[in-house]
Amino acid sequence: MRKIDLDNFKVARSETARHINRHIVLNLIRKHQPISRAGLARRSGMQRSTVSAITEQLITERWVIEGAFGNLPRGRKPLFLHLNAERSGIIGVDVQATTTKLAVASMDMQFLAQESMSTGSDPADFVARLSRRIQDLMRANPKDSYEGIGISLPGRIDVASQRMVFAPNLGWGEVDLKTPLEQAIGLPVELENAANACALAELWSGRHTEGVRNLVAVTVSEGIGVGMIMNGQLAQGSTGLAGEFGHVTLAPDGPLCKCGNRGCWEMLASNSAAVRFYAESASVRKGEIGSKSAMATLGFEDILRLVEQGDAKASKALDQMAHNLGKGIVMLVTGLSPDLVVVVGEVTRAWDRVGPIVAEVVKRQSFTHAATRILPTNPEEQPRLRGTIALVLQKHFGATFGA
Ligand SMILES: [Zn+2]
Repeated sequence: MRKIDLDNFKVARSETARHINRHIVLNLIRKHQPISRAGLARRSGMQRSTVSAITEQLITERWVIEGAFGNLPRGRKPLFLHLNAERSGIIGVDVQATTTKLAVASMDMQFLAQESMSTGSDPADFVARLSRRIQDLMRANPKDSYEGIGISLPGRIDVASQRMVFAPNLGWGEVDLKTPLEQAIGLPVELENAANACALAELWSGRHTEGVRNLVAVTVSEGIGVGMIMNGQLAQGSTGLAGEFGHVTLAPDGPLCKCGNRGCWEMLASNSAAVRFYAESASVRKGEIGSKSAMATLGFEDILRLVEQGDAKASKALDQMAHNLGKGIVMLVTGLSPDLVVVVGEVTRAWDRVGPIVAEVVKRQSFTHAATRILPTNPEEQPRLRGTIALVLQKHFGATFGA
């Protein structure tokens, strides 16, 4: 049971109760559609009249539509209710260190359009370019309404100020993205750390989350982010910085990180780490690989390609990364005991090779791992972009309990 915070609570009014019931009905329709009013009353335990009043309001607001007749053996045939996924659009923006992806999605998380742009080093210029791109996207994909803009960032968002405060891989310093974007576009902007957004997306749409209340998402890209859903809620910590496991030192003598520490988990297990391992092993035998400038532009995609081609040094670099990924996941499994750890990022494309190494390290080093499943997300489903859509969706479908 959640402890009531006596310094920060709202007394339940009838309006609050109506709001909560509306959320419950909307969620039941979303989950069990097509569903009849009788089915809703049965599943919610509410009076039929209450369910009818709420569904009428949802139909008036076009959140819900009445569809095909139900097929009962005899008697009156009930009309079934569906979520009106076409009603509104959501804009999703996944900001990464070099490239930013934009998408338009419907309320059922289907992508309708996608594009990308360079991220750049100047946040003011970025906001100006992003505003224009979003406005162009909305014009090209007309809808009844747009519900909001979900933005995931490779950094942490201060809960109180909603400014991005910790993003060593972006190098932007403290930035307010929310205010200028909301002013330019006129839509609410939901900001979240990318790993938190991915954890929410798994909770909302993941295939493995039936009954899962404790879920950890690990995003592996230029850095490593961790998002935690504990007891069904996003764990943010007092200021929003919870989850920075990527900057916990695993090797005190390891390479210097942009955060100032040495040997952080992400210095040993991110995409950049695998590229560094490969470059180090390759530079030992000069002349065997391409020129220095070719090495400088080498990316993680190249490592994955070389592994596929059977390159021994690239395979060794990937294995080393996988081993270190496992070492950090041991920390999560032993310390948090989640039902599920999901891994997000390009590395999941090589999960046939990486997964067994991670599992072996966790098996060897964690004594509580038995119940925790460690699964890759499907890169085809674009989990990071889905996360941005989930940020807006949770405003509509998330629980809104006061106390
Ligand atoms: Zn660090």
